[in-house]
Amino acid sequence: MEIFDMREFDGHELIVFGHDAATGLRAIIAIHSTARGAAAGGCRMWPYATTAEAVCDVLRLSRGMSYKNALAGVPFGGGKAVIIGEARKAKTPELFEAFGRFVDSLGGRYVTAEDVGTTMADMVSVARVTRYVAGLGRAPGAAGGDPGPKTALGVHLGIKAAVRFRLGRPDLKDLTVAIQGVGGVGYHLCALLAAEGAQLRVADVRPAAVQRVCEEFRARAVPVEDLLAEDVDVLAPCALGAVLNAQSIPRLRARIIAGAANNQLAQGQDGQSLQAAGILYAPDYVINAGGIISVSREYHGGATEGQVIADIQGIPARLTQIFERARRENRTTNAVADQMARELLARHRHKLVA
Ligand code: NAD
Repeated sequence: MEIFDMREFDGHELIVFGHDAATGLRAIIAIHSTARGAAAGGCRMWPYATTAEAVCDVLRLSRGMSYKNALAGVPFGGGKAVIIGEARKAKTPELFEAFGRFVDSLGGRYVTAEDVGTTMADMVSVARVTRYVAGLGRAPGAAGGDPGPKTALGVHLGIKAAVRFRLGRPDLKDLTVAIQGVGGVGYHLCALLAAEGAQLRVADVRPAAVQRVCEEFRARAVPVEDLLAEDVDVLAPCALGAVLNAQSIPRLRARIIAGAANNQLAQGQDGQSLQAAGILYAPDYVINAGGIISVSREYHGGATEGQVIADIQGIPARLTQIFERARRENRTTNAVADQMARELLARHRHKLVA
């Protein structure tokens, strides 16, 4: 595997492979950039079919964290971890303690938290052996805790900004929103959207998760394979990445795409296909920064939940700035966001922090 030559490598500072024989841990930590501080990004647990697939995912996610953290203005660089394994079958507290020792061995260059397949309970196990972790329990009113609801808040505010920009509407009343994936973020997003009178269509590979949002928020269930092509105002991908690709884009009927999933575009050029189809795309790492904003406030200490919410309220203005610049310069929103992030990163010299 020619890692240095991979497109996804993109100047990463460090990639480390961790193995623990006792627990079976197989994990990869990728540090894209520590230019703005310790590399922070969640830990994903996923049954990757091959190591190459895991490497590719962790590199894409890690670079995305550099961009996300820079644009959100949090004092973190970008990194990510993946654990290769089936979360439902292979999880044990000991596995996450072994992962925590792996994180600790980097001496604070990488700070971990939750992502797909990992929970607050897993991070509590990690925290038994390292202090380089966030997304833990918190005192009432303090910053931190599960980042999922904070990510959902940012996505909700971002959807409103996109609706204002693209549809000229001040609220979400009676707008239709299709949500792909109603897990940690998607569930809370459904709650916020339903409270504003949006009509929800939902799909998830877990029937129980679908049933819950249908009962609680009067959402309508849609087969997993049909969700992306729903005739709705807004499509919110909140499951996995690469769902916007050459196969799916011609089928899309939404006018806005604004959701939590990382790396929604399979390739940068898919942004051009969306633009050509007249679909407004909210760059994923801009709209889904609420969780890392919370993690950052928790990790650096001394902040209240109110400060986290105030920071998250900056997301819609940032998105609107990107939408306006993209329109003015006739470019895609993802290209504009990438350029802004790269400019911010270039202001700092790369350094591996200890
Ligand atoms: P999660 O694992 O709790 O939820 C994801 C949900 O998607 C699950 O319910 C899963 O069953 C469902 N799903 C998987 N494949 C699907 C498919 N093909 N169709 C429909 N549903 C499917 O994860 P999460 O924490 O809610 O994160 C969702 C996305 O948002 C991920 O891409 C994650 O990287 C991103 N994200 C999460 C956070 C956070 O704070 N948790 C922050 C930023 C970005």
